[in-house]
Amino acid sequence: ALHLLSLMDDILDLSRIDAGRLDITLETLDLAALIVEVTALTKVQADDKGLALLTEVPGDVPPVRADRSRMRQILLNVIGNAIKFTEHGTIRVVTATDSDGAIVRVDVTDTGMGIAAEQQHLLFEKFRQLDASHTRKHGGAGLGLAISKALIERMGGRIQVRSRGQGLGTTVTVAVPVARATLLGAAPTAVGTVSAHPSILLVGQDAAARQAMATALTSS
Ligand code: ADP
Repeated sequence: ALHLLSLMDDILDLSRIDAGRLDITLETLDLAALIVEVTALTKVQADDKGLALLTEVPGDVPPVRADRSRMRQILLNVIGNAIKFTEHGTIRVVTATDSDGAIVRVDVTDTGMGIAAEQQHLLFEKFRQLDASHTRKHGGAGLGLAISKALIERMGGRIQVRSRGQGLGTTVTVAVPVARATLLGAAPTAVGTVSAHPSILLVGQDAAARQAMATALTSS
């Protein structure tokens, strides 16, 4: 019943994407907490297969701008795949912020069956599965990565798959934009002499970012 339910969810998502009706609700999200939540959920599957599931989340991951339930869906798919296509070893979930502070990257690396170089570009195609014998064993319909790609791109992010080849494990990277209010808050403050009551024109499309900047300017 669970397999059937997840298949129906995937097919509905696919239809929404094709119809251009995929609704995304962006919010400022604590990605670190979500990763901890998702790895706790998937640990049971990893334990069942005798795989180690290791999570590295630094304490200073900035909030991202993303849809909470869709982000959870992407992480569940990517970590679930890592477990599904690995028979021995370790799944490592490593989170890091880019040097310019604009993107948080989640790398999910497994020690599993890997993907041949010439097949890596096929993975994001709908209904594409590289090995029919795995489908018989684990189910799935080859939709998860196609849906994940559509979802993360709607959030302004990216998903990428790398593997050194068959049998050499796989890394899937999900890149998520940092919330803009955080970026503005982190901008260096101007040094110099200013009038005691300066007038400042603050321009920007994002109301939340404008509000955060206005608060920062008026409280200093
Ligand atoms: P599903 O998992 O339902 O087959 P996905 O779209 O999530 O569908 O994945 C598509 C295909 O990509 C999988 O069938 C598998 O062949 C390949 N794949 C995805 N993740 C991995 C991984 N971590 N290691 C090896 N192959 C993978």
